[in-house]
Amino acid sequence: MKAPKNDPFEAHNKLLDVERAAKKLEKNPSWRTKSASTKHLQNLRARDAKLSNDKLYADTHFCVECKAARDESGDSTSLCDQHLRKAMGML
Ligand SMILES: [Zn+2]
Repeated sequence: MKAPKNDPFEAHNKLLDVERAAKKLEKNPSWRTKSASTKHLQNLRARDAKLSNDKLYADTHFCVECKAARDESGDSTSLCDQHLRKAMGML
């Protein structure tokens, strides 16, 4: 007589396969909810940083000291001390 289809050994092996596959998925960052939400947070932070940078550069556009720094160095990206520190996140 042949082995029944629901061989307990085979069922157990299949269960192990599922566990192995689940572990593999856990290791895959794109499948992890935690890392997905971390990525989402990173995107939000990047957007925040970009917005505050945009605001900063709008400010420097009207800053007399930044204009003086630009004129003095001949570099259109030069910033005054205060705005340079802000740009580097020190303020
Ligand atoms: Zn400035």
